[in-house]
Amino acid sequence: MDFQQVFGKPPETQASAPGRVNLLGEHTDYNDGFVLPTAIPQSTTVELGLSSDACDGLRQHHFYSENFNEQVTISESNHTPSGFASYIFGCIEVLQKAGYTIPSLSVYVKSSVPMGSGLSSSAALEVATLRALRQLLNLPIDDVEIAQFAQQAEIHYAGVQCGIMDQMASSLADTQHILFLDTRTLERQVMPLPDNAEILVIDSGVPRTLATSGYNQRRAECEEAARSLGVKALRDITDAEVTEKLPEPLCRRARHVVTENNRVLEVLQGVTSERFGELMNASHASLRDDYEVSVPALNTLVELLQKTPGVFGARLTGAGFGGACVALVVAGEARNIAIHVLEQYKQAGYNGQILVPSLELSDAA
Ligand code: ADP
Ligand code: MG
Repeated sequence: MDFQQVFGKPPETQASAPGRVNLLGEHTDYNDGFVLPTAIPQSTTVELGLSSDACDGLRQHHFYSENFNEQVTISESNHTPSGFASYIFGCIEVLQKAGYTIPSLSVYVKSSVPMGSGLSSSAALEVATLRALRQLLNLPIDDVEIAQFAQQAEIHYAGVQCGIMDQMASSLADTQHILFLDTRTLERQVMPLPDNAEILVIDSGVPRTLATSGYNQRRAECEEAARSLGVKALRDITDAEVTEKLPEPLCRRARHVVTENNRVLEVLQGVTSERFGELMNASHASLRDDYEVSVPALNTLVELLQKTPGVFGARLTGAGFGGACVALVVAGEARNIAIHVLEQYKQAGYNGQILVPSLELSDAA
């Protein structure tokens, strides 16, 4: 199916936005800290057309997702879409609340971003939708405002209490650039990827079953640690030795956050690919030993990656307790390294999957 087949005429405009992966700065965002995501090659494309459709004089939108092969009609009188429609409708609604008039729309979505794998297909959908709307209606909004509207849509319409990292990465980064973001001040800097390096992301095949309870517990521990140390957030501690005043396990939790923030700040000073890799390895050790959010499968996968020639560094990415690992590898080597590592990972009894670079994309290239 394409736009023409679904809606009977060609689209007026289209826009795309990428998914993202966080390279460094894990479990730092809710501590007001620093993150370092980059865009992945897979993206979401949104095509838009004007629809003359109205119901009782109220605007009516039609959304079609190629990935779900599903069409949803939303009228303004029926304000509670669920599922994928809530992300698109949320983008329309936040723009209307900001004073822009949005006409009845036909929206066609297609995406190569894996859904629900931690590569932020949700932010890619929101940012692509908002970019397409900006183009169609000549809206005077910049890329940071796009990220902010996208975050509002996800929080208020999709019901996900997210920070702003995903949307900022999708809106401001590309596959050749990483985004340094201070989650407290929103100060940011777009930097090139380290020299001669590319990104590899492998799903561990282990679902993140304990992620929600573990995440909430870590958040609470960080808040308690910050209170005990008399600071607003752990971001305000820069010397890891200060955390030794805390009782266990708060001491180790706080030490992860402080050292992780310092690792991100070191990258901001400019580092080689080798050093970037060492910082990723140190991040994994800290997430495993101090933050205790890794699991055996992730440790196995990361160790296999770390000992493979051509890998600068590797670590778990996302909240942990399962999910994916990210590695920084020699440019052009990601596919071969992944095939080699997945073979050994299989011998260890696990079933992993390459997420980045995607098979289709590299075959097409
Ligand atoms: P992630 O952002 O890590 O991929 P989320 O659970 O936050 O996982 O977002 C996934 C949801 O976003 C999907 O279940 C769907 O509702 C929506 N979504 C993302 N991409 C698409 C798409 N191409 N078509 C329809 N819905 C999509
Ligand atoms: Mg998401």
